Formats: sequence, C-alpha cells, structure tokens
Amino acid sequence: MLLASERAAIVEACRFMQREHLVVGTAGNVSVRVGDRVAISPSGVAYESMTAADVVVTDLAGVTVEGELQPSSELPLHLAVYEATGAGAITHNHAPASTALGLVVDEIPASHYYSAMFGGVVRVAPYATFGTDELAENVAAALTGRSGALMGNHGAITIGPTLAKALSLLPYLEYICEIQVLAMATGLPVKLVSPDLLDVAVAGMSTYGQQPTH
Ligand SMILES: [Zn+2]
Repeated sequence: MLLASERAAIVEACRFMQREHLVVGTAGNVSVRVGDRVAISPSGVAYESMTAADVVVTDLAGVTVEGELQPSSELPLHLAVYEATGAGAITHNHAPASTALGLVVDEIPASHYYSAMFGGVVRVAPYATFGTDELAENVAAALTGRSGALMGNHGAITIGPTLAKALSLLPYLEYICEIQVLAMATGLPVKLVSPDLLDVAVAGMSTYGQQPTH
C-alpha cells in the first residue's frame, strides 16, 4: 500500500480532531504530501470506522493513484495550498469558535500572543464555494507567511512541515478564536498585543522551534 504510515497517521489525526471536539461529524479533512503524492482522508467516512486503506492517494493534479473511495471534496483546496506553500501536511476543520470569529472579522485580532505560533496575525480568507478553485486561491493567499488561516463562512486550516506539526496547531487556533469571541462578548474593549511585540513573540517561537518552517 502506498504511503502506508502516512495513511495510518491521517486516520489517527481524524480521530484526534473528533476526540478534541474540533470537528462536527466528518466535517474536517487531513492530508499529507510526500513528493508528488498526496494522501488525503476520504469523503464522508465516519472517523470511528475509517481505516488506512480508506485514505486515498492522489497525484498533484488530483488524480487517484490508489484507493477505492472518493477523496475529500476539498482536495482542490489541499492541492492549491501545497503548491502555494510547500507544506508537508494540512489539517482543516469547521470548529465553532474559529468559524464564528471568521464571520465577524477579517483577521484574528492579536488578543493572545499565541497568534505568534502561526507566524503573525491570522487572516480570514474570503468565502467561496467549497471545492472551487476560487476557494483554494483565497485560502492559499491567506496562508502567505502563516501556518494557519480562517476560512470565511466555513472553518479553519493549519499547515506544517509534518502532520504532527499541522495537527498540533489546530487546537491552538480554535483556542485563540474562543478567547477572542469570549472577550468580544463582554462588550468591553479588547486589549491587543502590539504588532512590535507580536513580532518579538514570533521570533522567540522560531528560536525554540514552535514555529513550523515552510
Ligand atoms: Zn471545509
């Protein structure tokens, strides 16, 4: 089986997202790129029963190389992000706080210094229909110089050199969105980390290896 260990890791990642309440149903997808092959979670398979054999392997044009099932409908998004960023893995979900915050801002205000984990202030990609090239372009642009982005009226995405790194960022992205939503809900002014100090935090995280390189 092609990319056997990557496929097994994708199944584990889907189960992690479910365990951590980062997905609703199967509304998330995960992929790993190795050279000119991409392993991606299948469309519409319950995470509980998903096996490594259910994970689909495609080429960089999205043509299935191995696998019986349909790849995630968001394969074009994953392929465009790989082309634009050179990432090694992608995780994508529709968690509540990140989706909610993407409805009301164009970027996540730097209310928590954890924004630095993503390379700076996290952008919100404008809405486009799922599965379209337009969505893929919008998200790839929002990820410029960043390891995470929100997707307007849709969800969130993280990338990394490895699946472990991309997946580890997903709960932090949901967390900083939840903090911001809670703070905004008070109706009081929200204090922000200044751009200069956020840059310092970005540099500090690079130093101790929390910042994905891509
Ligand atoms: Zn989605």
